[in-house]
Amino acid sequence: MAPIPHRNLTKSNAQFQKAVKRMPLGVSSTFRYWGDERTIYVHHGKGGRTWDIDGNCYVDYRLGYGPAILGYADDRVDEAARRGMEVGGVFALSTERELMVADRIAKMVEGVDLVRFSNSGTEAVMAALRVARAFTGKDSYILIEGSYHGLFDAAMWMSNVADWDPASGTDPATVPYSMGIPKTLKELVYLTPMNDLNRLEDIFKKHADKIGAMLLEPMMGNCCAISATTEFVRAARALCDKYGVLLIIDEVKTGFRVAKGGVQSLHGVRPDLCTFAKAMANGYPIAALGGREDVMRTFRYGGAAHGGTYTAHGVSIAAAEKCLEILDETPALATLAAYGEKLKAGLKDILDRRGIVHSFSGHSSMFGLFFAPKPPSDYRAWKRSDYTFYDKMAYHLHDLGIICEPDSREPWFMCEAHDQSCLEDTLRAVEAAVDLTLEQVKGEASA
Ligand code: PMP
Repeated sequence: MAPIPHRNLTKSNAQFQKAVKRMPLGVSSTFRYWGDERTIYVHHGKGGRTWDIDGNCYVDYRLGYGPAILGYADDRVDEAARRGMEVGGVFALSTERELMVADRIAKMVEGVDLVRFSNSGTEAVMAALRVARAFTGKDSYILIEGSYHGLFDAAMWMSNVADWDPASGTDPATVPYSMGIPKTLKELVYLTPMNDLNRLEDIFKKHADKIGAMLLEPMMGNCCAISATTEFVRAARALCDKYGVLLIIDEVKTGFRVAKGGVQSLHGVRPDLCTFAKAMANGYPIAALGGREDVMRTFRYGGAAHGGTYTAHGVSIAAAEKCLEILDETPALATLAAYGEKLKAGLKDILDRRGIVHSFSGHSSMFGLFFAPKPPSDYRAWKRSDYTFYDKMAYHLHDLGIICEPDSREPWFMCEAHDQSCLEDTLRAVEAAVDLTLEQVKGEASA
């Protein structure tokens, strides 16, 4: 087997030095900064692979945090986007195509009667929370520990599990994700662990008179794909019904990925509102908010506001039309899930041969890898697993031509274009990375 050459990052490092003078951390999103000497700049992507400006080729399992569901630069979607460009941009008016895409979403997702478009997942969730508050007249909301709903102030509260001591016998502190979040907003948030029915019920019993919405990501796309049980999702539905709270299922990552009808279809639960983004248009910026007719009709003059200069942009809506058509009418989702199964089997084989205890969470189209016998059922259990092995391994994987998130809390994403050659390159790299990690761990233990 040919040795895998280690990376040369000369050009990326030089680019970083230039970029950092003009852009904070040299990037357009803080998560793209991986260190002064490990931040890579992309030349292009095609299919399941990304090339950096030094010419290093990577099999990519981040896929831009999920959007490239068919693979980068998919000819079918790009051709549709080019036709969308001819429409002329944005008009502050609507086009016929918007309805076609809304119809397609309503056909694919049972929980969707009506649709509005946004530009990003953040915007869609923000609109969902606003309309839920408008509809119920209640401002507080429930969040699940470990979930992520975008970068807007209301969603930027979390349980600080990373710095929490599981032996302390206390709950992790509720903290803002970032500086700059008004402290007064904390009063509106109720954070609770995934799959803890008793705690959830307790919150409803004590505070439902103030709670307008429960935001639920039944497969946490930013937290190792830790998954809700069907029992938990159904209980959440029942509690929301009982106490007059709207259930918002955030499908920004799972939508049009884990199933045509989203993660809600896997649980057989209909939310009042649901949000979509990533996989909708294979990477073109668009998101959607869908839901119950009576709730969605709260978007009206004098009701809840919704809009934006770029919503349903001609290019993105044309890309969404084509991408959703492919996901709905071809076996693309089955293809990428089958790839995920093969990848998991290959990873398992490598780890089993070395006696490394591990497990997988999530769905074969987006899964988390854990170094614990059972995948965690909530974020607190992640803290108890050996995620340091993953973090070290990810570092080596980057050098060996695999893009995965350096942080174990981000799942691996599959796309339709991942093929046998991607699989072989990945498994070869993983085998080498695991051995390097084992050596590193041994070295650290004896140091
Ligand atoms: N909700 C979920 C579940 C997400 O995963 C994300 C993005 N990772 C968002 C909302 C925010 O989406 P965006 O980055 O497009 O604003």
